[in-house]
Amino acid sequence: MTAEYDIAYLGTRSCAVGVASFRFVRPKGYSFIPGQFFTLTLETHEGVTSKQFSHADAPGDDAIELTTRLSDSAFKQTLVHLEPGSIVHISGPKGRLGVPEGASAVGFLTGGVGITPARSIIRDAIQRKSGLDIALFYGNRDEDCIPYGEEFRSYAAAQRMAYIETLDHPLPQWAGEAGFITADLVRRHVADPAARYWIVSGPPPMVDAMKVVVGNLGVPADSVAYELFAGYGPNG
Ligand SMILES: Cc1cc2nc3c(=O)[nH]c(=O)nc-3n(C[C@H](O)[C@H](O)[C@H](O)COP(=O)(O)OP(=O)(O)OC[C@H]3O[C@@H](n4cnc5c(N)ncnc54)[C@H](O)[C@@H]3O)c2cc1C
Repeated sequence: MTAEYDIAYLGTRSCAVGVASFRFVRPKGYSFIPGQFFTLTLETHEGVTSKQFSHADAPGDDAIELTTRLSDSAFKQTLVHLEPGSIVHISGPKGRLGVPEGASAVGFLTGGVGITPARSIIRDAIQRKSGLDIALFYGNRDEDCIPYGEEFRSYAAAQRMAYIETLDHPLPQWAGEAGFITADLVRRHVADPAARYWIVSGPPPMVDAMKVVVGNLGVPADSVAYELFAGYGPNG
């Protein structure tokens, strides 16, 4: 059920280039389903402004966490200048994104900050030892900033999930995949992709590109869910 809370800001962890994670005290009585989002309201120099963020944290975590691309917007500038202990307002949880009951295999197609709902769902499945068969396809520009990359690599090393990282601009020594996520890339890593439930999340350009991939894979329309990070605009 959606409710309103005033909560304290805890701190930030930065990715190399213009991406950061922000943590807040999780209020008593606040519960959510992995994949859901909340609305964060800040008082900026342009007035009171609200934006939506998918939970990057899992229900089993102590803190609420969002991960975002920084920008010059009054909202983001207010966010980066919060002092630990500052009080912000959230309302939530909202949204229906998630793994449907009964689905035993899920794939994620995402990139950059679009990772947030996938991270929440995957972290929760692993914390709960749910046995969900997970394949994460995750595109980023380069090695400098792969939000939660280390965590996913550790899950993959422990054989808890299949993790396919691909970079647009890898260094010559990069041993992983290069280029965008394509249907061909998915087929090389996942047997029978059409039999899996797929979750696509991120800014509009990413989601549009992944709609083509899902179509090329022959995934039925009721076996795919999209979370569009509206507000990033057509150029992401
Ligand atoms: C369900 C949901 C979940 C989300 N989860 C996340 C998340 O986990 N992480 C995250 O970073 N963001 C998430 N977003 C997006 C987030 O709410 C912000 O919109 C985004 O972070 C951009 O904020 P900004 O202040 O940097 O935007 P701005 O700097 O104000 O705008 C970014 C760019 O988009 C353009 N733009 C802004 N609004 C529009 C519009 N309506 N139409 C066309 N172009 C526009 C601007 O011109 C600019 O180029 C989510 C959005 C939704 C709806």
